[in-house]
Amino acid sequence: MADKSTVIDSNLLVAKALARAGIDRMFGVVGIPVTSLANRAVALGIRFIAFHNEQSAGYAASAYGYLTGLPGILLTVSGPGCVHGLAGLSNAAVNGWPMVMISGSCDQKDFGRGDFQELDQIAAVKPFVKFSVKAKDIKEIPNSVFSVIDHARSGRPGGCYLDIPSDVLHQTVTESEANKLLDDAESSRKIESVKSVSIDEIAKAISLIRKAERPLIVFGKGAAIARAEGELKELVEKTGIPFLPTPMGKGLLPDSHELAATAARSLAIGKCDVAIIVGARLNWLLHFGEPPKWSKDVKFILVDIDEGEIELRKPYLGLVGDAKRTLKVLNKEIKDDPFCLGRSHPWVEAITNKTKENVLRMEAQLAKDVVPFNFLTPMRIIRDAISALGSPAPILVSEGANTMDVGRSVLVQMEPRTRLDAGTWGTMGVGLGYCIAAAVASPDRLVVAVEGDSGFGFSAMEVETLVRYQLAVVVIVFNNGGVYGGDRRSAEDITGPFKDDPAPTSFVPGAAYHVLIEAFGGKGYLVGTPDELKSALTESFSARKPAVINVTIDPYAGAESGRMQHKN
Ligand code: ADP
Repeated sequence: MADKSTVIDSNLLVAKALARAGIDRMFGVVGIPVTSLANRAVALGIRFIAFHNEQSAGYAASAYGYLTGLPGILLTVSGPGCVHGLAGLSNAAVNGWPMVMISGSCDQKDFGRGDFQELDQIAAVKPFVKFSVKAKDIKEIPNSVFSVIDHARSGRPGGCYLDIPSDVLHQTVTESEANKLLDDAESSRKIESVKSVSIDEIAKAISLIRKAERPLIVFGKGAAIARAEGELKELVEKTGIPFLPTPMGKGLLPDSHELAATAARSLAIGKCDVAIIVGARLNWLLHFGEPPKWSKDVKFILVDIDEGEIELRKPYLGLVGDAKRTLKVLNKEIKDDPFCLGRSHPWVEAITNKTKENVLRMEAQLAKDVVPFNFLTPMRIIRDAISALGSPAPILVSEGANTMDVGRSVLVQMEPRTRLDAGTWGTMGVGLGYCIAAAVASPDRLVVAVEGDSGFGFSAMEVETLVRYQLAVVVIVFNNGGVYGGDRRSAEDITGPFKDDPAPTSFVPGAAYHVLIEAFGGKGYLVGTPDELKSALTESFSARKPAVINVTIDPYAGAESGRMQHKN
């Protein structure tokens, strides 16, 4: 038993508050003034995953928040550490994922005089946070910790920031004072209540769905955060309405489901007359819900926890509330008056036929063994190796241009929250951070990253982190020697005094990425043929140890900019 007069410092008090709030994992980079905070947290049973760069650690924290629903915590040093961490915070904001960045900051009395790593960090984080607070005294710490955590999870989740000046980190209170501060702060926690949908609105939605001739259900990351997969399954199967997941919505219902319209996407969104959108924004990823991709007469029913989203999109009908709870009520009300389109319904039949046709066409392409590798041949081999693993399905991390585009249509998602990709911002460089977050969040699952060499390069040093923590992550690098691959410039672009420099899109040809992980004791593979790839996958998947498979891809396979060519 600690003596009542024992004193504890702010480092320990932060760790205690985090532990009380249920936090058991942290990501970050230690250094002045936060090293003790990390050590105290570990001593209290919080696992601290130490990275090389706050950018990757921040991406990890944001993805951890998405996967677990508990805010992912990023710890950074002051000044530059905080600035590097903004990448993670902005990623959490843009994707709507719960995350908290905690940064040390310079001594309060020296602020404005050019102190070590001085920065107005509260101002720096402002564009990226839902809420931020500076603990100006040790007594403010418990309240500040609970506030950032509660704000990060409430409503549409997002990033929050806690600033702790170095002088505060060194302040102390007695253990009994600390406990009182923690108790008081805990009892004054205010968890924002979520608005519930009214039965009238549900009745309107049901009437609209019943009258629809070509209804479609679309779901995304918000439905995944809400863990609404059971309710989605019930809704889809009870009504017989085809569904379309967004890229990260994939897996909430298995891609193999007979009502999956993924392979008939253009038909499904182009022709549907009522679309029920659950936890997905009508942003660029869904073509803003506008023609020519969508019909001009489509009626949207939006289910979203964020009232602002409904106000922004002005759908035909908005159902504000948590997706799981809203769908539960919807399902219940439908049950009293059931309807099901059935397989012979012309709309269902049209989607099913189009799906079969497109799948057959894609499979014919995939069946060919093309060497030197294009994108399709290795992707098919990876798909088959992943499918052979069964359940629990691995968590797939995907980034790149062609690699991510081709991967999205070829790789199969069978379980919820098993896909992490470049997300709402199309962010490159998330790969290794996401892999680490996924392995830490779900130690029972293998993590498989399928990424381009450019995406991999952003955070490649974190392969050391994989090895250090012995995480079950296999990183497959599609190595085509550059951003988009080989030099595709026209003759008129290759001119001027620096014309002999490598193209801005080029990397060193044949880069030995597999050797990088071997420097730390991980396993590396270099593969260029189907047999070599199959053997590397079999060995690394069963070893469940950190590995990099460097797959040589034809530098001229694929399109420049992938699917986004028209924007480049
Ligand atoms: P995607 O990229 O899959 O299309 P988005 O990130 O664009 O998904 O949209 C997710 C939406 O889900 C956001 O508008 C967000 O407000 C909403 N959302 C987040 N959590 C919930 C929840 N628990 N219930 C319903 N909607 C949610």
